[in-house]
Amino acid sequence: MDLLEKKRQVIQLYEEYERLVQPYKTLAVCEKGCASCCIDVGSVGATTLEGLLILEYLQGWDDQAIEEINRTLRENRSEKLNGVLVRCAFLDEEESCRIYVVRPFSCRRLYSVRKCDGQGAVVHRRAVVLGQKIEKELQELDPDGCSGHLTFILYLLEEELFRRSYLKGSWNLEDFRDIIERYELVVHKGAP
Ligand code: SF4
Repeated sequence: MDLLEKKRQVIQLYEEYERLVQPYKTLAVCEKGCASCCIDVGSVGATTLEGLLILEYLQGWDDQAIEEINRTLRENRSEKLNGVLVRCAFLDEEESCRIYVVRPFSCRRLYSVRKCDGQGAVVHRRAVVLGQKIEKELQELDPDGCSGHLTFILYLLEEELFRRSYLKGSWNLEDFRDIIERYELVVHKGAP
């Protein structure tokens, strides 16, 4: 399957999840401006394939916005490595997601039927199971890649050697072991 088709299937999985989870989401109390899950959850997971979609989206930003997000991502990574619970780098001042249309699945699956108020989201059990299924399918769609916190996945993809090799479907684990271990990334099944 070529990369274009894989990316298309990622979007299809997002859409499938939205359709299947709809009956449980009708009671959601989430609203624009409430970004509790972008601030308090601490881990925004993504696969490398999802990371590629986000990087492509960022290519449409102007130089200043790119420079700014790169700085925020750097700070975010450093704080996360120091164990600090940080707000997502993509959350703007109005508490809106700057990459909403391409946000990863870990963000799409989060909603709450009760105001979080720092207590965490309350999600229907069936929606959790559905989310686990889609998460597994996203990883299977990206057998040569990795999963992990979004900012770390983007960092890995910014490594020219990794990106080139990954896009060809083969990369050497030893070349990136340091990054994989430091950022606690999960290497998918088909990867080295
Ligand atoms: S990517 Fe967007 S939706 Fe996901 S945590 Fe960050 S700001 Fe929130």
